[in-house]
Order: sequence, then structure tokens, then C-alpha cells
Amino acid sequence: MLPTGCITTAEALAPYLNLSDKETQSLRRIISVYPLAITPYYLSLVDPSDPEDPIRKMCVPSLDESLYEGQSDTSGEADNTILEGLQHKYRQTALILSTEKCAMYCRHCFRKRLVGKSTEETKGSLDAMADYVALHDEITNVLISGGDAFLNSDSMIEAYLERFSKIGHLDFIRIGTRTPVVWPERITKNLLEILAEYAKIKPIYIITQFNHPRELSEQALGAIRALQASGLVIRNQTVLLKGVNDDPEVLGELLRRLAACAVLPYYVFQCRPVLGVKAQFQVPFSRALPIVNKARSLQNGQGKSFRYCMSHPRGKIELLDVIEGKLIARFHQAKSAEDDNRLFSASISSSQAWLDENLS
Ligand code: SF4
Repeated sequence: MLPTGCITTAEALAPYLNLSDKETQSLRRIISVYPLAITPYYLSLVDPSDPEDPIRKMCVPSLDESLYEGQSDTSGEADNTILEGLQHKYRQTALILSTEKCAMYCRHCFRKRLVGKSTEETKGSLDAMADYVALHDEITNVLISGGDAFLNSDSMIEAYLERFSKIGHLDFIRIGTRTPVVWPERITKNLLEILAEYAKIKPIYIITQFNHPRELSEQALGAIRALQASGLVIRNQTVLLKGVNDDPEVLGELLRRLAACAVLPYYVFQCRPVLGVKAQFQVPFSRALPIVNKARSLQNGQGKSFRYCMSHPRGKIELLDVIEGKLIARFHQAKSAEDDNRLFSASISSSQAWLDENLS
């Protein structure tokens, strides 16, 4: 039988996954550093008899999380923070960290430094953020993220939409949420009515994150269809994760099924070398590029519309290929104009999974 509420402790999780006392104790130690939250719905997708289950890997802590390899902020987010809760890295985009809360704390999260914790990087004053965006007419879109933007109350979501939909130089508003994947019940009638009302004024894109075909359940697809029927466009960002989707057939099936339900694959992201994430989930470039390029070759034109990127302090870098020990890449989004669209190559080792700050 499934739990009635969100699972947040090792003790509450133990009976559902038949964890031993020793495993429960280890989990308790990890959770004291990186919080746990698993919704009953997402737990229902886990195969409790399979310790290698890809769905389990995304929600249940592994002992690898306690390996102190990696950094807490891999793309310089703190340096791009202009106001509490607002980052301005790329000219055209303001990123808002509207909450530190998520329905589920994904074990591979790149914002592990702040999700589920008390932090000053999120939840700035909406007035101050809206004034900043209104004064900067080079900003053409805002991304309301977190944490998970749909963990805000309906009235708070409405307040964001009300303020930003009035700013003339914004072409559209994006909302980052994983709730259709991990908590489809959050897509309620009231929330849909609010979204539908503001989507008539300004296009709203929902940016979500499906990482495995088994996440495309009937409930998740029901939430997606309801959002689409309310006039929203849904786009997906997948993270390439060892033991979850680092297989061309699995990734290929995910991308194909996403395109088939009009959730266009937008990015496949290289997993960041984040503390508590790197050791468990990162795939080296020399393995990752053949996987992603094979998965791409299995798609029709719509499924091929994604870019495989890594988020670097200097911008978003599209990863194209590995040829004779060199990574071939191009700046897709650059922080400074001199890097715009720049194609470059970098010698890499066979185990390398990230590029350091000193790019030539
Ligand atoms: S929903 Fe997004 S922000 Fe929240 S834990 Fe998962 S990946 Fe991180």
C-alpha cells in the first residue's frame, strides 16, 4: 500500500523498499545533508524489488551522495545573482528562483546546494524583481523557476503572472516545474484556470524534466494534456544520467514519446559535477556523445529538435562530437559577446565529463 503523504524520512521510506536497519541509518545520515521528499505517486513508479531501478535512482538517496566530489555551484549562479531571487546571466533572460521547495528532491539536482534548505538565493521581493525586469528592456523573457515554481501557492503564481504579463518587452513567460512528472495532482482546475487566463495575454511555456520513458505514465500525460488544453506550450529538458537514461534505446524512446505528445525535447543536459551528484550520475563525454547522437538518429525531425548542452560559467555550450580525443563544441548561449556562436575543440581524457573555466 502506498503512503498517504509525501515521504521525508528514512524511517517512513524503509517499509516500502524493504530497507534494512543499516540502510535506513545510512539514508538518515545523507538526508541530514540533502533532504528527502518523494510523493506517493512517484513512489508508485518505483520497482521495490530492483535496487538498480532507474526511477528509484532519481528519488532514493544512494551512498554515493556522501562522496565529497564536486562543487556546489558549477555554473556561477551566485555570481549572476543581481537581486535576492533574480539572476541575470544572459542578456535576454531573467531567471527567478521563486522558492527553494520541490515536490520531490531529485537526487541528481544541480541546485542541491539550496533545494529544501533555508537560503538567501531564492524568494526575492516580487516588486523589486518586476521593477528590475521592467527597467531592462533587453530582457525578452523571464524563467520562473526554483526549486519548483509550482510549489508556490496559486495566488503567488497568479501574482507573478499578473506582474510579468504587463511588461511590454517580455515576449513570453517560462515556468520551470517538475510537478507534471513527480506530482501530477498539482495540476488542479484552479491552477489551470489561472494559467489559461494569463496565457491569453502573454505566451506561457512550461519547462519540465522527463528523464525516463517510465515517467510518461497516464497520470503524467493527463497533467500534460490539461496544461496543453489550457493554451500552454510544454517543452522538456532531460538530464543525461548514469544508470537512468545512458542508453541510446532508452533515451531514444523517451525523446520519441515526448515528441509524440507534443512535448518538444528542448535540451539534453550534461549532468553537472555537483557535490553529491557527480560520482553517481555523470557520464564522461567519450561515452555520452555516442549515446546522445545515436538516440538522435532514432528520431524524426521533431524529436531531433533538442540540443545536447552543458551549462558553463561562460555560457551554454552545445556538445557536438568527440573526434580523436577532442571534444567538438559550440557556444549556444554566451555570457559575453566574444563567445557568441564560437566553435571550438578541446582535448579531453577518456574519463572527462566537464570543461573547466579556462576554455581556449
Ligand atoms: S524538481 Fe528541479 S529543482 Fe527540484 S530537486 Fe528536482 S531537479 Fe532540483
